[in-house]
Amino acid sequence: MSLNTLLITALVVALLALLWRIREQRRSTSHFLDLTGELGHKLEDLAERYDILTTNLAASVIIRNVDGVTTFCSPYTEVLTGHPVGEFIEDAGDFFESLVVENDRKRFQRAKLVSGLGEDIVVRYQLLHRSGIVLWVETHLVPICDSDGRIESVLAVSMDVTASVRYQQRIEEQNRDLNDFTYMVSHDLKAPIFTIKGMASAIREDLNESLDQESRESLEYIIEAANRLEALVKSVIEYSSLSAKEINDESVSLELVLDEVLNDLSGAVKQKEAKIGRIGKLPAVRGEHLRLYQVFSNLVGNALKYCANERSPEISIYTAQENDELVAIVIQDNGIGIPNAKLKDIFRPYQRAHSRDIEGSGIGLACVKKIVDRIHGTVTVKSEEGQGSEFTITLRKSSPNTVRVLSFPPSSSEASLE
Ligand code: ADP
Repeated sequence: MSLNTLLITALVVALLALLWRIREQRRSTSHFLDLTGELGHKLEDLAERYDILTTNLAASVIIRNVDGVTTFCSPYTEVLTGHPVGEFIEDAGDFFESLVVENDRKRFQRAKLVSGLGEDIVVRYQLLHRSGIVLWVETHLVPICDSDGRIESVLAVSMDVTASVRYQQRIEEQNRDLNDFTYMVSHDLKAPIFTIKGMASAIREDLNESLDQESRESLEYIIEAANRLEALVKSVIEYSSLSAKEINDESVSLELVLDEVLNDLSGAVKQKEAKIGRIGKLPAVRGEHLRLYQVFSNLVGNALKYCANERSPEISIYTAQENDELVAIVIQDNGIGIPNAKLKDIFRPYQRAHSRDIEGSGIGLACVKKIVDRIHGTVTVKSEEGQGSEFTITLRKSSPNTVRVLSFPPSSSEASLE
């Protein structure tokens, strides 16, 4: 479903909740409203619009009070489910819930429970139409409170989203096929590249003396091209394997990940005389240790690689923001920065912002994005050319008592500003 449709749906849901509330209030305060004619007319008008909206909306609208009594059921419910509206009103239980397919019923019940506690929630599930067809349905559940803030009813707006779910499934399937194909072709290319490299190197060694200058140069070109092709194939395999493999959802200590990354990059840190500032402690997050290592290794590695010639690299890693659920971690450098025009594409595969003199495949940030997406996080970048870059990763936090403990040597002292 498009963002527009979602926004319109959310707006309609909010409007319906408001109109229902006004309609109910109007009922209970009719005497007072009789005295205030103009306001009464306005409310009348709103209530009428409410009825028009619920009658003509291509979505089922059902209102159930806290005692589980269905107090309203819009006509479209019959189109969506195939069952007459009367069946929903008359049923002592929740007739709508009984149409949710067995496998999804628990999820539907959980969503009802959450909305009964006062939260708006959207739930997607499969529903059995009277004709026997199974539909994909999305329901927005919105609690309605009385004037004292007590929940009195829950409004459920349900829509048929079968077409968009099927479309999404088809796209995912095609992506999987494409990915498998890329992976397979790249894998098959490894052997011939290996042969070309091996043969060219053997010729160079065996016949070096008897070869003229031109032939020697040609051999060097072949070996260099084969090396580049090998690096390219490796990066394609690395990128496509990220889609194919499962990524664990476990508790990972970012402190340990960062220790590991800085330890492995300590050679480059020393060589570039870089200062790495670890400000405060990083929390434990949800994800997979190896994948988060790849993320931080890419970002810190790039911060070292794309340093400015005229100053030694200074890299800061810190928690910028956090709440109970999310944490935003910043990796900031004082390097050459990224030109503004390149920023929007920088997370796409094979997009490079600088000259080929700096070695790289252009796949690192694409891998970072793919990993972060797959563990339900985000990654963004701010940069000023010549000044430096700032990458921000937002990840889901995990509770501290479930952190997977890995033993690892502490970060080296030269890698710390503190
Ligand atoms: P590469 O292998 O080229 O380093 P990446 O995908 O890691 O590939 O990065 C893509 C491009 O983004 C790089 O080629 C570089 O131009 C730019 N880039 C990434 N990180 C930084 C950084 N910290 N500072 C400046 N430019 C960067």
